[in-house]
Amino acid sequence: LALLGPAPGAPCCPHGPALLFVKTSQGTEEGRRFYACSACRDRKDCNFFQWEDEKVSEARLAAREEYNRSHQPFFTHRQNMDRYKNFVLLPLSKRRFCQECQQLLLPAEWKKHSDHQFLCDITTAQLKSPSQLLYPLENKKTNAQYLFADRSCQFLLNLLTGLGFRRVLSVGTPRLHEMIQSKASQEEEFNVRSLLLDIDFRYSQFYTEDEFCHYNMFNHHFFGGEAARETCRKFLCEENGERVIMVTDPPFGGLVEALASSFKKLMAMWRETEKEGHDNREMPMFWIFPYFFESRILDFFPSFSMMDYQVDYDNHALYKHGKTGRRQSPVRIFTNLAPSMIVLPEEEGYRFCTVCQRYVSSGNQHCEICNSCTSKDGRRWKHCVLCKKCVKPSWFHCDNCKSCTLQKHSCEKSDSGCFVCGKAGHKRSACPSLSRS
Ligand code: SAH
Ligand code: ZN
Ligand code: ZN
Ligand code: ZN
Ligand code: ZN
Repeated sequence: LALLGPAPGAPCCPHGPALLFVKTSQGTEEGRRFYACSACRDRKDCNFFQWEDEKVSEARLAAREEYNRSHQPFFTHRQNMDRYKNFVLLPLSKRRFCQECQQLLLPAEWKKHSDHQFLCDITTAQLKSPSQLLYPLENKKTNAQYLFADRSCQFLLNLLTGLGFRRVLSVGTPRLHEMIQSKASQEEEFNVRSLLLDIDFRYSQFYTEDEFCHYNMFNHHFFGGEAARETCRKFLCEENGERVIMVTDPPFGGLVEALASSFKKLMAMWRETEKEGHDNREMPMFWIFPYFFESRILDFFPSFSMMDYQVDYDNHALYKHGKTGRRQSPVRIFTNLAPSMIVLPEEEGYRFCTVCQRYVSSGNQHCEICNSCTSKDGRRWKHCVLCKKCVKPSWFHCDNCKSCTLQKHSCEKSDSGCFVCGKAGHKRSACPSLSRS
């Protein structure tokens, strides 16, 4: 399956314009092109499908429009804001949150939710931490909501404020947004602002239209239309010299090209706000993604480099610190800022390599032959003279295959194997060794 990208005049599903795909085999495009939902890689979540050359009758178009309308959230963002204003006026004893509907309840609505589980006495502190109140939407294929561990979130925030950024475009990073918002409301001298762009509309209950836009990062669709787009554009204007950085942590399920295309549009939005001095610079960006996507990301953003910092998550069995010490997380920061500026915490073992001019993991040894710190996963890699590069410590050089590979492998060139675990039958994005529980 190959993505042909966002196409002008593409039909819409409830998630905005669909993307154009084509089946491929052995690298060549084969068969009919079709449109499918940009956001949902699971047909259970959105089953939109249309052949590119399919004639769609007026009646079906009308029905589709009606369907799309009826599949928008029940309350608008504006209505949710009014509800919030009323909610915070309520005494604690009347502040309820329905866990089933994931919704703040006003007393008049209690009855309708009477057989639902709910939380009582919702405090102001809870309203300021919606990512704790809402349950993470973990459905792997669509939302894949994996929240930063406090340590990682704090690190990111310190890093970007230390670099002098005062505005953060948080694309799919609700927890970072939340940390910025609550600090800004508590600390007088903390003058950083954040705008959250996310497909998770539940957040519209807690943030104003200047703080949250309902957005699909796979097709650059603003559900709130031109007004929301304008909010974003305005935010990207570096008024009063407040420099902007975009931070994004998309679902890892693939479609890197779709993400890249949207991020380029956000970058273009930033560039177009230009007063003076952007020249040919790019909007500074942190793209948080697993290390094994490095070459894919660099394909689209050659100016990016991958940092060694391992990003940890809360609700993620594999990517978080265990009680018994550190589990290695495969998630990294990709950035177009100079690597030498990204200072990683020495107390967590990172050190500065003066040759590479960047911070690296403690296990990442500078290879004299490659003349770089070559480890990608934090373990010490070894140099293979035959392959002329450093490889994973568990690999050995196979004379049959003429390359380094796992000890256990069958000596036939098969490129269907998973990049992460080496096994056939799945791609790295679906690798069970990365599965979340
Ligand atoms: N680590 C981040 C959360 C990353 S999880 C944090 O703690 O802040 C991925 C995020 O992307 C989720 O918030 C999810 O709602 C959002 N998301 C998933 N699909 C999306 C899409 N198509 N468009 C925009 N946001 C999306
Ligand atoms: Zn859809
Ligand atoms: Zn080095
Ligand atoms: Zn080497
Ligand atoms: Zn080798």
